[in-house]
Amino acid sequence: MAKHIFVTGGVVSSLGKGLTSASIGMLLERRGLSVRMQKLDPYINVDPGTMSPYQHGEVYVLDDGSETDLDLGHYERFTNSPLNRDSNYTTGQIYQSVINKERRGEFLGQTVQVIPHITNEIKAAVLKPAQTGVDVVITEIGGTVGDIESQPFLEAIRQMSLDLGQENCLYIHLTLVPYLKAADELKTKPTQHSVGQLRQIGIQPDILICRTERSLSYDDRKKIALFCNVPVEAVIEEKDKEFSVYEVPLSLVEHGLDQLIVRKLKLPARELKLDDWHQLLHRLRNPESEVAIAVVGKYAEHKDAYKSIYEALDHAGIAHRAQVRIQRVHSQSIERDGAERLLAGVNGVLVPGGFGERGIEGKVEAIRFARTRNIPFFGICLGMQCAVVEFGRHVLGLDHANSTEFDKNNPHPVICLLDEQKTITDKGGTMRLGAQPCRLRSGTKAAAAYGCEDVSERHRHRYEFNNAYREQFEARGLTISGSSPDGSLVEIVELDGHPWFLAVQFHPEFKSQPTRPHPLFAGFIGAAAAMKQRGAAGVEA
Ligand code: GLN
Repeated sequence: MAKHIFVTGGVVSSLGKGLTSASIGMLLERRGLSVRMQKLDPYINVDPGTMSPYQHGEVYVLDDGSETDLDLGHYERFTNSPLNRDSNYTTGQIYQSVINKERRGEFLGQTVQVIPHITNEIKAAVLKPAQTGVDVVITEIGGTVGDIESQPFLEAIRQMSLDLGQENCLYIHLTLVPYLKAADELKTKPTQHSVGQLRQIGIQPDILICRTERSLSYDDRKKIALFCNVPVEAVIEEKDKEFSVYEVPLSLVEHGLDQLIVRKLKLPARELKLDDWHQLLHRLRNPESEVAIAVVGKYAEHKDAYKSIYEALDHAGIAHRAQVRIQRVHSQSIERDGAERLLAGVNGVLVPGGFGERGIEGKVEAIRFARTRNIPFFGICLGMQCAVVEFGRHVLGLDHANSTEFDKNNPHPVICLLDEQKTITDKGGTMRLGAQPCRLRSGTKAAAAYGCEDVSERHRHRYEFNNAYREQFEARGLTISGSSPDGSLVEIVELDGHPWFLAVQFHPEFKSQPTRPHPLFAGFIGAAAAMKQRGAAGVEA
């Protein structure tokens, strides 16, 4: 029978519960245990697929096409836990399922209530990953203890220790221990209150992980232990990591977290193996070069909107022993101030995915700059579509060429709606989503980077390269280096005679891990580093 770990958060949001949960998963895997990760989100949206990146950051896509919370990205970067639609539930999804059952008459005339119907649905969701025969299921509860929305989730996980036995459930609570400058002291009161709230609803945390900017003294920990009713060794410090998120698991090991979990849950664990992780951090700390990469998007000011892209760039940097300096450039500022001014001196330009017309012209301008100056360019999803628009307008001379997403009656619709999308009106979960096969053309940069012929990548789009223009584009040097196996959908384009100009319709950033960088990101950073070394950037093509 699987053991369950529940991770809750208190005091404030954005404490890094996702990273902490992912780190716990990773440490248990590296002690030889099999793990499944799961996140329960208290908001009413059925999934984050329709939420603005300003509100929610990036939407993370899984192989099975689920559009999920970005914390699942941390899970996939830190662990090998396979994720699917059972890995992320929202209040919206839980209610939708209960209401559907009510409409089908499954409750046989009962009054349908939060307890037990909603909580039963939540418990069933938590038990699903446990049915895969794993050792441990780690369930992170989104939001902060005390939120109205979180209550049914907390009630459900409280009941689980009654259902499954206390010895099979472990409650970990992440809190903040703030430093007050005026008093020159760390303050434990918010943690006491937060644990107090948890205990009010019947959950006694087993372990407290305390986020702090300064180290906790033994006395601080003793005080927290006393007021929160836990042994002092169960008060674990998690100090802010300025250097890299990949340090978090190591610092948790330093404070004995993995041992504590293994002991409390009586898990059949092996010795901890972290050699490759130490090596990774060593490489990260000792880069041999530096490359400047501009990421040109309309959410440049939002640190989470392109989360997986920033991470994948870092992973590729680690592979090349290059420190990647990411410059977040707002595509609308390029429209205002010009690419010349904002992209001068960069070693690579990346245009990420997106929706809607705002900032499109700035992206097209950035791509033109990269293409004509021989600067390595990587386009992702909308970034590929913009690259096609740019090439259409400026190389093929197709005046005002555009995507029909932005200009329905364009005379040169080089990007157009996928056939399967033409009758779809619902916005939620209806794009071309998830893993799709892609066949590479041999002899291309794409094929060289992957080192194979067939790959599978994750998608999230409604528009595609318009096949009516294929011949024109290929004739002028924009090679289609990857397509769906039947050849009908363009998946990758690349430019002949350019050091590295490659754009993809899918999202490779979702399949990059720190110890296994994605081949296309690695290819891009390799080209940027080579270009920098040759000092060749800025030369007109
Ligand atoms: N808006 C474009 C489409 O729907 C690109 C999507 C994306 O970048 N994820 O096809």
